Amino acid sequence: MVYYSLTMRILIVEDEHKIANSIKKGLEQESYAVDVCYNGTDGFDLASTEDYDVIALDILLPGMDGITICKKLRTDNIHTPILMLTAKGQTTDKVQGLDAGADDYLTKPFAFEELLARIRALVRRPRHAVGTTLKVEDLTLDTLSYEVKRANTVVQLSSREFALLEYLMRHPNTTLTKDQIIGHVWNYDADILPNTVEVYIGYLRNKLDKPFPRVPSLIHTIRGFGYKLGKDA
Ligand code: CA
Repeated sequence: MVYYSLTMRILIVEDEHKIANSIKKGLEQESYAVDVCYNGTDGFDLASTEDYDVIALDILLPGMDGITICKKLRTDNIHTPILMLTAKGQTTDKVQGLDAGADDYLTKPFAFEELLARIRALVRRPRHAVGTTLKVEDLTLDTLSYEVKRANTVVQLSSREFALLEYLMRHPNTTLTKDQIIGHVWNYDADILPNTVEVYIGYLRNKLDKPFPRVPSLIHTIRGFGYKLGKDA
């Protein structure tokens, strides 16, 4: 399935190689073209000379910090959407980042699906707005408006439930292991027990299958393997 007809370019400026590389890998799987810089000086140079759709910018960087980069780009009249990556609990970073001209921020550690959702929101433009509704049977999920509907009824989900459902819906009729699910929906470095996946699958069942007894259940447990979303178990 093709979601984007035009390749979008993302710049990641992040000195933690492990985080930067796993974001790059994940975005490339989603068909984005990705450049990575591990220091602020190179990051600023690339951001000011190349044309990107979104810049994911860490704050604490060797060379030049993210706040300074952001301010300099805006002063230079470069208005590429910037997603600041801030460390946990540093609320002053968020405020400074937004004041410096960033468009959004994401607190580390974050789940890949969360990053993806923010990036998609930042590149929300008419030419990209096509094909953002995922559909499996009578279940739909809109990746721009975050609206989920089952049998034409709007269903409210938490952000984690939404991320889990989006991941399942992007791989319909496919058995996904708990490890695959954890890797995509939870933090890269989080200590998540496989039981957590079961708990969240339970939440989704309670919201998407149980209230709709007249239509077939869509969430199936494949015993010993994982979970599958689709009409047939
Ligand atoms: Ca850093």
